[in-house]
Amino acid sequence: MYRIHPVQHSTLRRRLWLPVMAALPFFGVMAAFGIDPGTVVEPVPTQTVVQPLDLPQPQATDTAESFDYWSEERIRRGDTLASLLQRMGVAEEEQASILAAGRASSALQRLAPGRSMLARVTSSGRLLLLRYLASDERLVTIERVQGEFVAEERAVRLEMRPIMRSAEIRSSLFAATDAADIPDSIASQLAEIFSGEIDFHRDLRRGDRLSVVYEAYYHDGRLVRTGRLLSAEFVNAGQAHRAVYYRDGQGREGYFTPHGQSLKRAFLKSPLPFSRISSGFTSARFHPVLQQWRAHRGIDYAAPTGTPVRAVADAVVAFAGWQNGYGNIVVLDHHKPYSTAYAHLSRFAPGVKKGRRVNQGDIIGYVGATGLATGPHLHYEFRVAGVQRDPQTLKLPIAFSLEGRERSRFLAQTQPYVARLELLRGSNLAAFD
Ligand SMILES: [Zn+2]
Repeated sequence: MYRIHPVQHSTLRRRLWLPVMAALPFFGVMAAFGIDPGTVVEPVPTQTVVQPLDLPQPQATDTAESFDYWSEERIRRGDTLASLLQRMGVAEEEQASILAAGRASSALQRLAPGRSMLARVTSSGRLLLLRYLASDERLVTIERVQGEFVAEERAVRLEMRPIMRSAEIRSSLFAATDAADIPDSIASQLAEIFSGEIDFHRDLRRGDRLSVVYEAYYHDGRLVRTGRLLSAEFVNAGQAHRAVYYRDGQGREGYFTPHGQSLKRAFLKSPLPFSRISSGFTSARFHPVLQQWRAHRGIDYAAPTGTPVRAVADAVVAFAGWQNGYGNIVVLDHHKPYSTAYAHLSRFAPGVKKGRRVNQGDIIGYVGATGLATGPHLHYEFRVAGVQRDPQTLKLPIAFSLEGRERSRFLAQTQPYVARLELLRGSNLAAFD
């Protein structure tokens, strides 16, 4: 189910700009490249990847041509201009002269994987225009001028316009962000920012809601890339967590509550990083926890063998080796009286040895099923003075807050993005199944 509300207009527009290309090798996608960004775009079904041109038909350059189209190709490792021309449907007989023109551009000689190339090609394979954004500041074009191809590189300025999106969780975080057309990089940033507050593997509930405001960079009205999360709200089990990005006078940056309290925590909520890959096993079962903490004084995370395990806080390795029952286990000493243990590992991360220092978030080992384990999972213990405790019930040290002038500066600078969150909350949430 898919309800339209004002916030989604940008969603719909992005579907036009960033269609899935790989599946359509020849005709590519007829993206409505060049549409005025203010144009009201009619809703398109979620699965649609091909959008007919609703531009005025370009002036025919050749009366024999019935139509032309824009083709976009994502650059893969090992790609050359020649391989892209091939994929974009440029006729063989044109390619040599295009490649010759392309030699004038160093950017076209060393293509950046992950970026994309756009070409306007006629139905008979004649290239009319090729555009390649080599970096956020450099645009390369190859154009047909009086029958000759001419390459040009020029500086461009990208325009940043924040995008606002909301979603409700029905099955998993990534299902929700996919449905709301929120890029993976933003979903991962969201999980990271709240990693001291929410264990995304265990705490997610059906009906949780998220709102995000993030940077989007445009050139000529076309989305070129997304940037950082500017503000976010995550309503988990009825409790709202909010974050806003702030860069202080000295250039230090981070995420804070709207009141100016840092979201950096001494302890991460989960030893498993949250990503599309690590969350794959949560989608089948909403709660991946095998047993309750009470049952055996630890938290079990079901996860495939090889899933990385991270240190929840800065620590010194107290033990890395074999213990009966636990199998391969790492024990970390944090500041007194806290320690944590990670058991049943398939292997240890390189350099994880007794006495070594690790930082919060460092990978210390990989999920396995060693010791007394019926299947691959991570057994995680949080210990206070050596005794296992349920971290959910503990009051852990809180992070610092911005004070005085810094706080005033913070409030002034972040206000617009907090206001956007309010706006999202006030609007009808998009509901996705
Ligand atoms: Zn266990």
